[in-house]
Amino acid sequence: MNSIYNYTKRDLENYFLSIGESKFRAQQVFEWLYLKRVKGFNEMTNLKKGLIASLNDNFSIDSLRLVTTEEDVDVKKYLFELYDKNKIEAVLMHHDYGNSLCVSTEVGCNMGCLFCESGRLKKIRNLGAFELVLQVLMVEEDIKDRISHVVLMGIGEPFDNYDNVMKFINIINDPKGINIGIRHITVSTCGIVPKIKEFTNEKTGVNLAISLHAPNDKIRDKIMPINKVYKINDIISCVKDYIKKTNRRVTFEYILLSDINDDAACAQQLANLLKGINCYVNLIPYNETSNISFKKSKKVTIDKFYDILKKNNINVTIRREFGSKVSAACGQLRSKKTTESER
Ligand code: SAH
Repeated sequence: MNSIYNYTKRDLENYFLSIGESKFRAQQVFEWLYLKRVKGFNEMTNLKKGLIASLNDNFSIDSLRLVTTEEDVDVKKYLFELYDKNKIEAVLMHHDYGNSLCVSTEVGCNMGCLFCESGRLKKIRNLGAFELVLQVLMVEEDIKDRISHVVLMGIGEPFDNYDNVMKFINIINDPKGINIGIRHITVSTCGIVPKIKEFTNEKTGVNLAISLHAPNDKIRDKIMPINKVYKINDIISCVKDYIKKTNRRVTFEYILLSDINDDAACAQQLANLLKGINCYVNLIPYNETSNISFKKSKKVTIDKFYDILKKNNINVTIRREFGSKVSAACGQLRSKKTTESER
């Protein structure tokens, strides 16, 4: 499938140049697709007939099938079916600063983090850039409003689908297209070190978040299999390099799991680890799921953990809890292969 939504402006310019056309055609096509949102090449009325015919011959304009939505306060979860019948979810959150969309990057996930429901289905395939772009287009169409922020924190590991993810970011950031500001896009990784290095050198301006979840390898090894490959020190040293080269602040995500990583000693160890690094820590109250036995930390424990980080001058916030009633919260998304009637 050669979806037109896989093409960055530059890719389209190259295509038009290759068929002896002006590269300005790329801008025209972008406007039709991303400003006027047409669903067929025949509607691109400022293009010559011959050009429309060649677009029809060479590209498809696809969509995802919206299977169902579920809503809770300030959150709406979308279940989409892909062309091969696989399903993915995306979650829209209304914040006072705008609409933020959490997109999935893969069908399933190979990272196998023990606490995460989304990763219980092994990876079936990467999403194409077009399937990422379409999550944004379909949700904007549904809400008849703009999405201002995109977080790559749905199902999948973005850095295990690196090229498509970078293409997607390029497409949605195009100022004459969907135009989502680069600093309004956040990519979250469980810590695939070589890809963090590659990402550093691209200097995109995209926000980087690291799912750390433990202050030492002993605990991290137990809950995140990726830690057997890339240790905490490897992550910290490439994050330091990222900050040095990009001058950007990094976010560390830290889920608080009762009696696993949430005591005062862990908090102090985390503070020592991050001291002097230009970062902030996003503490995530664990969202319990019926299939996994980890428990959410008590409020007093969360508050104490927070206070210890604060006292050590670490920037820290506690993530607002959203959408757990409709299983739309972090780690609760699923890429089920079930049929509609089973939901
Ligand atoms: N694979 C990437 C992108 C997924 S982001 C990554 O690991 O960063 C989803 C975030 O939600 C991650 O920080 C993940 O660790 C966290 N998460 C997973 N399960 C969760 C749960 N049950 N409750 C709260 N957060 C969870």
